[in-house]
Amino acid sequence: MNDRLYYEDAYNKTFIAQVTERVALRGQPAVRLSRSAFYPTSGGQPHDTGRLNGTPVVDAQVGPDGAVLHVLAHPLPEETATVAGQIDWPRRYDHMQQHSGQHLLSQAFYRHLGLETVAIHFGDVLNTLDLDGPPLSPQQLAAVEAAANEIVWQNRPLRAYWIAETERAKSRLTGARATVARATTIPLRRAPNVNGQIRIVEIDKFDWSACGGTHVRRTGEIGLIALLRIEKRRGKSRVHFVCGRRALRDAAHRRALLAEAAGLLDAGVSDVPALVLKQQEALRNAHKELQTQRETLLQYQARELLATAETVAGLRLVARALSDAEPATLQRLAAALTAEPGVVALLGCAQRGKGTVIFARSADVPLHVGSLLRDALKQFGGGGGGRPHFAQGGGVPTEKLAAALRVASEAVRRADRQ
Ligand SMILES: [Zn+2]
Repeated sequence: MNDRLYYEDAYNKTFIAQVTERVALRGQPAVRLSRSAFYPTSGGQPHDTGRLNGTPVVDAQVGPDGAVLHVLAHPLPEETATVAGQIDWPRRYDHMQQHSGQHLLSQAFYRHLGLETVAIHFGDVLNTLDLDGPPLSPQQLAAVEAAANEIVWQNRPLRAYWIAETERAKSRLTGARATVARATTIPLRRAPNVNGQIRIVEIDKFDWSACGGTHVRRTGEIGLIALLRIEKRRGKSRVHFVCGRRALRDAAHRRALLAEAAGLLDAGVSDVPALVLKQQEALRNAHKELQTQRETLLQYQARELLATAETVAGLRLVARALSDAEPATLQRLAAALTAEPGVVALLGCAQRGKGTVIFARSADVPLHVGSLLRDALKQFGGGGGGRPHFAQGGGVPTEKLAAALRVASEAVRRADRQ
């Protein structure tokens, strides 16, 4: 295990090693080394990136025999036997802050609410932790966040050490050595899933986890643990959290957004929620008022259209293209017009370059406007249809809208003459 340098020192950023084998991993060149500081994807923690003699290492994975495979952007020169390795430190340190923060947070959830962590995920932006138990309240979440950050600020040391799992079981019978004696008393948060030598990561007198990951030296380096939101998931709670530099970035991002919102409202940050509520209410009232005014206008329009309507054998024929109207307005106008007896309404509108046509007639008019509409629109490349008293269609080029209405009007006049 001494070929993995990060076990002994997670702060080791550079190293010299021999190239022991060249392989291919999913079609990409990869190498094994005599030793390495590169952390391979494992235990939830994402892999390191970096360089070997200047060649980018784009991925690091555990090979079938447990060795670290360094996946390269392009092959190393054939004669290369020794490499100088360098890991991308900002990326690695970020992972150390997230991973150490997760151990601390999982223990805080366990101590304060008795909730066990059943799954973790370290993402590029956010991390999640799944807790087994009933949904949490925002107050519980805030209490655990505060308690976890107290441990951060106590700046407790983190230590990693190995214990012999197999001897732990025997220790009561044999008496045994210091490591074994220690193993019997370690209150691991979760049972380890490995046999033999177990690596323990301890947050001083607070948390003991079986873990092969890389961790910060003291809790103070976690900086801050921020719980962002909680999600209910099939009897579990999924907590979204960030630590360290990510927590600072997240806070800065939220501050900027809130400042922008406050600027738009021309108010102080703390007045934003109340002002948004007030504006929402004002908008709702304005919308209601607008609806009332639209309805009034519609009634006026209907009356005016009826007053200037053409009379065809006792029927009032209204044929009009209202270019600015919405199809929904057209429908309401048709309903208002045909609420009166003896009316045929042939209406059209043009929205976003598309013509919409609505034909309607009063209950006492013996005319099938569905057929009328279908026949009239066919000539102009449009289509549609409907029932005897109401029909809707479209697909007519806007410049042909007036012509389509003229054709339909003529058909109504002809029907009267027949
Ligand atoms: Zn861990």
